[in-house]
Amino acid sequence: FKNINKIYKIGDQEVKALKNVNFEIEKGEFTVILGPSGSGKSTALNILGGIDKATSGQFLFDELEINSLTEAKLSDYRRDIVGFVFQFYNLIPSLTAVENVGIAAQLTGNQSLANAYIEKVGLSHRKHNFPAQLSGGEMQRVSIARALAKKPKLLLCDEPTGALDSVTGLKIIDILRKASESSETAVVMVTHNAEFAKLAHKVIRLHDGEVASIETNKTLANLSEVIV
Ligand code: ATP
Ligand code: MG
Repeated sequence: FKNINKIYKIGDQEVKALKNVNFEIEKGEFTVILGPSGSGKSTALNILGGIDKATSGQFLFDELEINSLTEAKLSDYRRDIVGFVFQFYNLIPSLTAVENVGIAAQLTGNQSLANAYIEKVGLSHRKHNFPAQLSGGEMQRVSIARALAKKPKLLLCDEPTGALDSVTGLKIIDILRKASESSETAVVMVTHNAEFAKLAHKVIRLHDGEVASIETNKTLANLSEVIV
């Protein structure tokens, strides 16, 4: 992000959700965007994912300037580059766990990948369950498997642990962190929980739409060192 601004307009009311925001995200890293409610975290994530556009500034993905892409090219970017994980999973209720992942695997032309990713998140024994037959943590694991099955270069997670108990939440973060370390994927997780910052390679703190600080951790905490 180079001098990214985002202004939302509702009638004659304006909200400056992001103000001159600058940061870089690296592949193979687990980045946490931290900040209180309303600080602009989801706005930043949505711009990264190409589902919203900055009002001004430059958003470069490698050399590609995302802000100036046509709608068709932006749609390619979302399909080929980005994976999303949401707080409330957004699974398709009428499809089983493995079928939900299969939809994403189809995009990469490989159905058998669905099984591999279900296994990666430790859910082989639940793969024929429908979402209603899964716990929250299990549903989140399905949604991560679905996102990973697209082999995204950018995995974007908006409060992925927000609806889970703390132990389950840490397990989810462990899966996300491993996904960043074991592949060419950059994982970005939005959270308001400052404890999670210890687990990230990079921590971008937002306050009232501005970057308050950016820190990098050379050594990462173990899950057991995090008090939740
Ligand atoms: P939370 O932790 O509560 O999810 P957040 O850090 O994700 O908060 P954002 O959703 O990015 O915050 O919102 C930043 C600001 O922009 C807020 O003041 C919010 O009211 C405003 N905002 C967000 N989305 C829109 C929208 N679509 N239209 C108008 N204003 C919006
Ligand atoms: Mg948000």
